[in-house]
Amino acid sequence: MAIQLKRAGFSNFTIYEKAEEVGGTWRDNTYPGAACDIPSHLYCFSFEPSNYFSRRYAEQPEILNYFRHCARKYDLYRHIRFRTEISAARFDGKSGVWRITTTAGDNIECHVLISGTGQLSRPHIPNLLGLESFAGRRFHTARWDHSRDLTGRDVAVIGTGSSAVQAIPRIASVVRSVAVFQRSPAWVVPKSDHVYRTAEKWMLRNFPLWGFIRRSMIYIGLEKRFLALREGSWAASLVKRKMEWALYRAVTDPVLREKLLPAYPVGCKRIQLASDYFHALCRPNVTVVTDPIERIVPEGVLAGGTLHRADTLIFATGFEATRFLAPMNIRNSDNTALKDVWHNGAEAHFGITVAGFPNFFMLYGPNTNLGHNSVIFMIECQVAYVLDCLRCLIDRDLLWLDIRPEAMASFNTALQSKLVRSVWAGGCSNWYKTADGKVTNNWPGTTLSYWRRTRKPDFAHFRLQARA
Ligand code: NAP
Repeated sequence: MAIQLKRAGFSNFTIYEKAEEVGGTWRDNTYPGAACDIPSHLYCFSFEPSNYFSRRYAEQPEILNYFRHCARKYDLYRHIRFRTEISAARFDGKSGVWRITTTAGDNIECHVLISGTGQLSRPHIPNLLGLESFAGRRFHTARWDHSRDLTGRDVAVIGTGSSAVQAIPRIASVVRSVAVFQRSPAWVVPKSDHVYRTAEKWMLRNFPLWGFIRRSMIYIGLEKRFLALREGSWAASLVKRKMEWALYRAVTDPVLREKLLPAYPVGCKRIQLASDYFHALCRPNVTVVTDPIERIVPEGVLAGGTLHRADTLIFATGFEATRFLAPMNIRNSDNTALKDVWHNGAEAHFGITVAGFPNFFMLYGPNTNLGHNSVIFMIECQVAYVLDCLRCLIDRDLLWLDIRPEAMASFNTALQSKLVRSVWAGGCSNWYKTADGKVTNNWPGTTLSYWRRTRKPDFAHFRLQARA
């Protein structure tokens, strides 16, 4: 967003960041094995392709470096106020100004407020009985405690989502034992990863067109995966068979196989890409525990009446994904809080604007997450859309613009009618939906359909307030 603001000639903007460095997810998630499950050549901005990734699926340090490189190259650091957390924002409709407060008590005014706070930034730690009594060290995958050397230790990992699937193979080979507490197994497809050969890197660095073709091929390949997210489709059954086959080949123990075979539709939870996960679970020092956790005790985890001894407890238990923008207190000029508007689950118009909250835009907001393609593509669509709105504000000399409630309502009615029939709605628990089952995080279509529909804002759907 900042880069495109600069390119469009907007220089009067400030980025507020509560941490000490850029990078978001890729700054915070430093657990062993952290990597992106989207090929790196697509997991970068279209205007800033990187030809320096060492492998098809780059790991966290390289991805973080890429985002730091972008911030440096486009001279963003001087726009960023680090260690500054926004606690509240209130819109004044008369002056068309957002009044923002930081946790340090500073007040800031701006005409336009854009959030880029992500969906997976606040770790979720379950409230397990006896947790405080645990005598060892405990931490969440997104807050990895690197001061804890795991060599020779007894570790308990709770959760089997993407973070666990990536971390477990890396730690299993160094620890004495790992107990993996699995509430539901993951569908896992082998990861076709490889280190780039010198010739491949040379091609990418010397022939930008080749990089573009590659990127386009990856994009089309991933976009096709959307077909597998439709329950009962031939693509879903093909992928399911491929994953069942991978499980049967990797795991010979029928009891373990049984534990690892999901009973929910493919795609309901994020499909995991891993070639080393099942092998790690077959190691003699790894136990997959499917009994529900009864309580945490000083010596470990009690489940199914058995004590699983551990001196380190790792929460791979995900994030508070459906609480968008929490804990910020965002209010409109009627003093209505956004969290109250969203009491039945967050919603927006294309995940970008919310009726009643003028001049406020979200990036990676409600219903813009994907199960099949790169979210960077979605964010670029949102950035272009926001820029068009800013141009409209300036060109038409507006005080504010605000999506009409009826436009947002009809958009969400259509969206939810698709989502209730989607693979994410039933059949499993996942982070895409609220406790009531409303899917608040995912976009129900292809990325191409999102691009087509957000390509130009329809200003007939907005209330436009001229300056007095
Ligand atoms: P997640 O997918 O939400 O997984 C959380 C895991 O914790 C699930 O297995 C869940 O079980 C379990 N869990 C939660 N509360 C529990 C409790 N009280 N008792 C026992 N188990 C509990 O979280 P994540 O693995 O951190 O991944 C989140 C998302 O981040 C991913 O879906 C992905 O979008 C992104 N991510 C991507 C990558 C990548 O690119 N490869 C890597 C990491 C993260 P249930 O399934 O039964 O609820």
